[in-house]
Amino acid sequence: MLFFTSSKVTPCPLERNLRLVCYSEDALTNILEMHADIVNREEFKEFLVGRKLPYGALPVAHRYGGHQYGLWAGQLGDGRAHILGEYVNGYGDRWQIQLKGSGQTPYARVYDGRAVLRSMLREMVASEACHFLGIPTTRSAGLVGNDETVIRDMYHNGNVRREKAAVLLRLATCWFRFGSLEILARSGEIGVLKQLADFIIKEHFQDIHLTDDNRFIRLFSEISHRTLDLVAKWQGLGFTHGLLNTDNMSILGLTLNFGPFGFVDSYDGGFVANASDGEGRYALGKQPDVVLWNIGQLANALKPLLTSSQQLHLAHVVKTLDGYCKNKILETFLMKIGLKEDRWGDEQLVEKLLDMMQQTGADFTATFRQLAELEPKEMASEAKLVEKWSLKRLSSHPFWSCWLDQYRDRLEKEAGKYLI
Ligand code: AMP
Repeated sequence: MLFFTSSKVTPCPLERNLRLVCYSEDALTNILEMHADIVNREEFKEFLVGRKLPYGALPVAHRYGGHQYGLWAGQLGDGRAHILGEYVNGYGDRWQIQLKGSGQTPYARVYDGRAVLRSMLREMVASEACHFLGIPTTRSAGLVGNDETVIRDMYHNGNVRREKAAVLLRLATCWFRFGSLEILARSGEIGVLKQLADFIIKEHFQDIHLTDDNRFIRLFSEISHRTLDLVAKWQGLGFTHGLLNTDNMSILGLTLNFGPFGFVDSYDGGFVANASDGEGRYALGKQPDVVLWNIGQLANALKPLLTSSQQLHLAHVVKTLDGYCKNKILETFLMKIGLKEDRWGDEQLVEKLLDMMQQTGADFTATFRQLAELEPKEMASEAKLVEKWSLKRLSSHPFWSCWLDQYRDRLEKEAGKYLI
């Protein structure tokens, strides 16, 4: 199926003096089942840049489109990435191996097909970090660079700026995005759209039956819920993707394409990680809404496969998603403050905490950590708070003691129930 929506294309490897910049031992040994010593071999670097292809590899670049900053951008596609094939490991897990920065493809448009070391290093570190933080994500297995440079940012101080090039080996169960379906719907290729949607169901959503007339609604519902579960994880860890265009939305609910991302330090819902996002469309606090908007685009892409009554059904599913997303995020924040249940007034409790954090500039990660480190009765003690710098800052807020009373009350209610 990949062939209907992809082009066969050979990578154009970086040439001399290849240097292994870094690798993920976990990804190499546990996912690709390579021996840890492989990193010392010359041929490993040649594999990472796309010169030495694994047996049976058939490199392709995938065609997709997407909405960028809320506008339909037309056909995009893997302009600088090659999917080499699929590896099924001993656990039966399937992983598509992809190189990024491995040369131009038919989708490169005016670009050079290269990726810069600085950005690939950020992706390598962040994707592996997200994985170990429990955020569903594509993985990074290894990064290779050399002395070759590429031109970036022509107008930097009036000079041409050159940056080192690199190739990143990425892994994912599949690389389909919302934009993989959108491009087919937009260009009227409805037969292929149906084939691709069925292929996605068959390969990745095995609980949905291919004989089910409502399978595309189920597919939509499953993708949407997975995606919103992902957003709740991002919000809970202060992760700001930075470029939530529909071509960066994985159909498996994975964090995809680490470009201008950031983790918030002092809490600010308006935190924008992307320097090009002047209007703050992709700010931390706006991620749930913008992802819901993206999900709306996925719904539009699937509509040509539905009868008119199924379209009404789909619209009904869409209407439920906002509530699902809010609940999931609330649940995430309640867990962060040690509450398992959802009770009346909890939403305000969390909202007030975030407001106080925003107004006092309290650190996002440290505040929750430090709340967990103190017994509730210690939180009112100045002496204890001195040790907890972020809570100390938070405690300067005029509503702190009132919030603390409510929080302790709420903790007692839950603990009381578990004691009975
Ligand atoms: P991104 O901003 O990385 O999500 O890329 C958006 C689109 O531009 C995708 O289709 C990329 O493949 C393509 N693209 C970005 N940079 C390059 C490049 N240096 N060479 C070829 N295609 C690129």
